[in-house]
Amino acid sequence: MSRDEFLHAGEEVLSFIADYFAAMGFFADAPARGPSTPPPASTSAPADTLIPDRLTPGVIASVRSLSKPGELLGVLPINAPTEPEPWRALSSDVQNLIMPGVTHWQHPGFFGYFPANASPPAVLGELLSAGLGVQGMLWATSPACTELEIRVLDWLARLAGLPERFWNQREPSGGFLPGGSVILTTASEAVLVALVAARKRAIDRFGTNNPAANVQPGLMVYTSSQAHSSVIKAAMVAGLCAGPVPDASEENLIGPVGRGAQQSGVRLIPVDDSGAMRTDLLRAAVERDIHAGRIPVLICATAGTTASMGFDDIRAAGQIARTHNAWLHVDSAMAGVASICPEMRAEIWGDARCEGLNLADSVCFNPHKWLLTNFDCDAFYVADRKALTSALALAPSYLKNAASDSGAVVDYRDWQIALGRRFRALKLWFVMRSYGSTGLQTFIREHVRLAQLFENLLRSDHRFELAAERGLSLVCFRLRPSEGQSAERTDAMNARLLEAINATGRHLLTHAVLPAGAAPARYVLRLAIGGSATREEHVRAVWDDLRRCAGTIGTL
Ligand code: PLP
Repeated sequence: MSRDEFLHAGEEVLSFIADYFAAMGFFADAPARGPSTPPPASTSAPADTLIPDRLTPGVIASVRSLSKPGELLGVLPINAPTEPEPWRALSSDVQNLIMPGVTHWQHPGFFGYFPANASPPAVLGELLSAGLGVQGMLWATSPACTELEIRVLDWLARLAGLPERFWNQREPSGGFLPGGSVILTTASEAVLVALVAARKRAIDRFGTNNPAANVQPGLMVYTSSQAHSSVIKAAMVAGLCAGPVPDASEENLIGPVGRGAQQSGVRLIPVDDSGAMRTDLLRAAVERDIHAGRIPVLICATAGTTASMGFDDIRAAGQIARTHNAWLHVDSAMAGVASICPEMRAEIWGDARCEGLNLADSVCFNPHKWLLTNFDCDAFYVADRKALTSALALAPSYLKNAASDSGAVVDYRDWQIALGRRFRALKLWFVMRSYGSTGLQTFIREHVRLAQLFENLLRSDHRFELAAERGLSLVCFRLRPSEGQSAERTDAMNARLLEAINATGRHLLTHAVLPAGAAPARYVLRLAIGGSATREEHVRAVWDDLRRCAGTIGTL
């Protein structure tokens, strides 16, 4: 590709993204087009663009891709091309082959899972990062990559009200504090990194005096039955658990470890009615394990569970961790972002001053979920940077350099699993500067307001019920069972409602299965608000469609 070809193709791609964002309603000066309205002709493509209009987003028939399994695989050639292909061939294939298989996560009617929202400044930061092609494994391999990361994470820590124990620096050119932070790929990587550090700390503490410290099955992880599956996966990767863990059954809570594939070093602690981990049962499980000669390594508390936005009691979990020398990691992948709004801190961390976090060894949240920063970007904070680096640092001779040897710099390869790393701080920096803290706070507050609005709409229609207390911008709900209707029928009815609402093409919602005490777990719908362009009209639109779908579904 020549410079000019690159420039023209690049303009085409950028204008495609601009049109796509405009179609999603990202720009105040370009209102969103409805899902079935034809796109206007592209005005931004220069006359000598390789294929004018080729990459315009087209009609968005459905938020959810309607692609069938194997559809793309069926048309992509089995071998890579032997001869170079022109850009026009690629751009046309993006439009014709790729776009039909794309689910529109940036659509204002996307309410599924948790969001992965994006923004124009973040995309520019990502583009610049790709263009610079920096690999920031060491400070020496690109000092700006490391130092910008340190500073933007401190900005975010201060903005979110995190205790000073998680900051890197107090002054711009001061020394490093004991704590610190790093941008990881995901919250899943964060819990794995925390576990590896916790395991090292436990092994160092017990050394060879305790045989359990020398065999993985003696090392224990505790989290709630509503915690994200990434906690179990981290234990699987770290060799503490052979596979998926059964639900929070009595056997899992107290059973021996290392007996059969279903036994593991992960204890899933049951939750209370609010979805919070039962810390009385946590304490009992930890004490029983210690009594049996096992070593509690990690307690993972969740601040904002995936299914229903339940919040664990961080202070209580922290006290148990402190008493028994376990590492407390707080996974707040989605909710933690809202900590930039001071009035939301009490809901997230248990107290408005975030004091419970003083008992945590690490905490993470994802700007890539709710802070306009496109995937991937997990902000991971640790109270003792040495505990982390002593578990992950390796210094092969070919990476030795004077800056690392001086001890005056941070080498982020020692804070993560992989050696290499992208310049992710650029996009977060662009976002934080482009919106300012007030812009970001307004963004979060509006989503929480919209969730409150949706909750009120639900309460106004007797056919629906809230399935859990609303947490920030997540509402779990379902169609109420009719008199005498079985749990299975109610679940099936709600599954049909979900299918019907998604089939409109105008919205995308997902489901969860929530525990219901002694009763069977319930299938519920989730409305997670966090899209960059989601506004009141979109929430009212999904509500109108839900009511209409509920009317057609009836009660089975
Ligand atoms: N933890 C919680 C509470 C989550 O809700 C999620 C995803 O929704 C994750 C972890 C995993 O996030 P990631 O994709 O960043 O690994």
